[in-house]
Amino acid sequence: MNTNGIIEVICGPMFSGKTEELIRRLVRAQIAKKTVHIFKHSTDNRYSEDYIVSHNKNRIKCHSLNDTNQIMDLSDNIDIIGIDEAQFFDDSIIDVSNNLAKEGKRIIVAGLDRDYKAIPFGPMANLLTHADYITKLNAICMVCGNQASFSQRLTKDKAQILVGESEKYEARCRNCYES
Ligand code: ADP
Ligand code: MG
Ligand code: ZN
Repeated sequence: MNTNGIIEVICGPMFSGKTEELIRRLVRAQIAKKTVHIFKHSTDNRYSEDYIVSHNKNRIKCHSLNDTNQIMDLSDNIDIIGIDEAQFFDDSIIDVSNNLAKEGKRIIVAGLDRDYKAIPFGPMANLLTHADYITKLNAICMVCGNQASFSQRLTKDKAQILVGESEKYEARCRNCYES
């Protein structure tokens, strides 16, 4: 049995640098000549289907999909698997991550831990329970400049999923966040 498998989770609000951090880890893995495969949920079509792109315009090639079984199928012979926008997947992402880690792979998953109502987003809370390493990042509050861990929706839309950028969301601290 291979015992090197690990699950790393990078979470935090919008604009906190999750994608940036994911790209940083994956680029280093590529420098180490590991085989790397990157996935994101196809709901996030903000910049490109074929890349994950951070707000500071870093980017890395990826595979957009919505069925976690495909992640298993495409991860044969891959050492390191990156997944962005994990909040959009269903709970099966937890079994998939555990199974891949059991095979000795390193899984790095980034996603929003809370939605705009500040409640756990999709499988993220559950996934954090299964993680070996957790990184929780903060953004900068756009009202007062303090550390921000909330994603403030700026529109009146009520759906949990509303893909958007700074025209629809801003990072806020606990005091400036309006529920
Ligand atoms: P995430 O994936 O968490 O949404 P990204 O990695 O895409 O975040 O973007 C992080 C970058 O966003 C920062 O390095 C910074 O350049 C930019 N940015 C824009 N607004 C903010 C903010 N309110 N707080 C922090 N960074 C911000
Ligand atoms: Mg991101
Ligand atoms: Zn604030």
